[in-house]
Amino acid sequence: MKILITPTSFLSKENTAARKLIEAFADEVVYNPLKRPLNPEEILPLLEGVDGYIAGLDYITSDVVKHAPAVLKAISRYGAGVDRVDIDAAKKKGISVTNTPGINATAVCELAFGMMLSLARSIPELDSAVKHGEWPRKKGIELKGKTLGIIGFGAIGKKLAVRAKAFEMDVIAYDPYFDADFAQKEQIKQGNLDNIIADADFISLHVPLTDETKYLINAERIEQMKAGAFIINTARGGLIDEAAVAKAIESGKIGGVGLDAFDVEPVTDSPLMGVPQAIMTPHAGAHTSEAVSAMGMMAVQNLIEVLEKGSCKNMI
Ligand code: NAD
Repeated sequence: MKILITPTSFLSKENTAARKLIEAFADEVVYNPLKRPLNPEEILPLLEGVDGYIAGLDYITSDVVKHAPAVLKAISRYGAGVDRVDIDAAKKKGISVTNTPGINATAVCELAFGMMLSLARSIPELDSAVKHGEWPRKKGIELKGKTLGIIGFGAIGKKLAVRAKAFEMDVIAYDPYFDADFAQKEQIKQGNLDNIIADADFISLHVPLTDETKYLINAERIEQMKAGAFIINTARGGLIDEAAVAKAIESGKIGGVGLDAFDVEPVTDSPLMGVPQAIMTPHAGAHTSEAVSAMGMMAVQNLIEVLEKGSCKNMI
């Protein structure tokens, strides 16, 4: 058995146990020499003779799948999102794809919550000013009594909702598969896209990137938002039109944005670069010791189970 493993955080100390497990299972383990998410042309040479692939945020396109070796039987995503894996192409070629659902939800929702507090009180902007010898008196707002609109009420959206309730916020959520029992227990209101866009002071995105959700937040939707509303995206880059958001911040229509995911990663020339009301983190939502360790172990277990038994409970 030859295994390719590309997530860079898989090599951290938190994944010592997961590495031991896969290295004991496999005859050969190849790690990502580039230490960043891989492009299609970088993946293919590494896939030579590989039976199982633990994938970070690599671009596993139809072309990669098409040219992958016939021995490749399983792709185990280290994370929840599978938008960078061509699932249909993999299915056609008989390659099983798995993910690690929910395991990093606390990490991501805490980052989203941190962004919400940071935007409400301009924490990064004030921090930078003080370090530059300034002493500004910029007023913030309190989260208490404000409305948080959550789009995508899955593992991360639900955890964020519970935390927001503890801060005495009103929470309204939208999901085509809305969990009414959970919402009733936690006093979360059910909304739709239109009333969330119109009524929320903070809008947080927790949906997968699909044809339907591509540019969910665009110039037209921003126009319908409350003046001064804030947008948070810790899900996927293509959900937001960054240029439209930059324009809306400049005009004062929206108060600011928190982004952990971008159209192009790593970000080099986003229109939000240098905008003080834009908080940007490097796709770090799942980067806590706890989540890294849990994702590593689950990704390894998924892979081993698929290679041994042909399936596991986390198949896509
Ligand atoms: P999840 O599958 O538990 O929840 C996603 C929810 O979105 C589901 O309940 C689904 O029904 C809903 N949904 C699908 N299409 C929708 C639509 N058009 N409108 C509204 N809701 C819709 O996933 P999750 O673990 O909560 O992850 C949510 C997002 O966060 C995904 O995009 C994932 O890739 C991303 N993510 C980012 C990081 C990071 O590092 N920043 C880490 C983990 C997950």
